[in-house]
Amino acid sequence: MIQLRNALDVFTLVMLIVTIVLLIYTMSVMLMQRGKGKTPTNPKVVTKVRCVQNDYSAERDFSKGDYVGLEIGKCPKCGDTLKVEAIYAVGGPKEKDQPL
Ligand SMILES: [Zn+2]
Repeated sequence: MIQLRNALDVFTLVMLIVTIVLLIYTMSVMLMQRGKGKTPTNPKVVTKVRCVQNDYSAERDFSKGDYVGLEIGKCPKCGDTLKVEAIYAVGGPKEKDQPL
């Protein structure tokens, strides 16, 4: 009877150690992935421009001084004012999902 109890105790101990090791392993993997995600992802900032007549829109690289509502030129279609409609980042989460 004593032997059986000891065997159960050893089994419980082994299971406990395995669980702890797995937990530490999972946590370290998660921390490594979090660190990886920060460094290489370099989201690109783009500026979306749209004609005030709503007949033309385009995207271009963000340049310093861009802001929403800024007039940046003339529409190539109708010659009216072209304004910055939105400024946003692209490429960040996408690159993270695609392992190289
Ligand atoms: Zn236009």
